[in-house]
Amino acid sequence: MIAENIKYVRDRIAERCVKAGRDPQDITLIAVSKTVGAEAIKEAIESGIKDFGENRAQDLRDKAPLLPPEIHWHFIGHLQSNKIKYVVGTAKLIHSIDTLELAVEVNEAAQKRNIVQKILLEVKTSGEESKFGITSAEKLFAIAEAVKNLKNLDFCGLMTMAPLVDDEAVIRNSFRTLRKLKDELESAGFILPDLSMGMTGDFEFAIDEGATLVRIGTAIFGERNYKD
Ligand SMILES: *Cc1c(COP(=O)(O)O)cnc(C)c1O
Repeated sequence: MIAENIKYVRDRIAERCVKAGRDPQDITLIAVSKTVGAEAIKEAIESGIKDFGENRAQDLRDKAPLLPPEIHWHFIGHLQSNKIKYVVGTAKLIHSIDTLELAVEVNEAAQKRNIVQKILLEVKTSGEESKFGITSAEKLFAIAEAVKNLKNLDFCGLMTMAPLVDDEAVIRNSFRTLRKLKDELESAGFILPDLSMGMTGDFEFAIDEGATLVRIGTAIFGERNYKD
């Protein structure tokens, strides 16, 4: 089941890349394993998945030791200060930094462990729909500039969640906004390889708009009851 789902998702990514004139190699499929156990994750590994996404710090803390150390873990959920210690160093990439305060605390935790933590800044591109994320270009630029001084952080790009609507134009607009912000930051001298956008319902649009990391849960592991 999981193997078939992964093949189906990979085929859809490949087809979309052809249409969009992109190289599938430039897109990393992150299997969002929140709420599923180690067995399901092992099945996905057998199908060649190396990248997994978790949205709760305790789940990442509990699952990572049960699974091969080669896994690239992605932390994609809202991160509370008191749980930073479960994520820094375990996650290859933290997608959800949305305040300077959080960046400072993650930098401190990385410094203590003597590592450089890769991060993305999460941007709210969808009005009221999502709870978290940086709410304006001005704030994004200010945080990005400040992060330059945090030597134990490696700022790699931007992440967003599109609104949960059926209107394709609204979804695309959200992804385009993120892409434009990345381009503007790059014009200002930042080097940002990553754009994390696209989930089960909208990843094809995200590929059209330049995603390099797609975060897919339902299409791989089936419907689940998410507790955020
Ligand atoms: C759950 C989740 C996903 C995956 O969503 P699906 O619709 O199940 O593919 C992607 N990104 C974030 C931040 C999530 O919380």
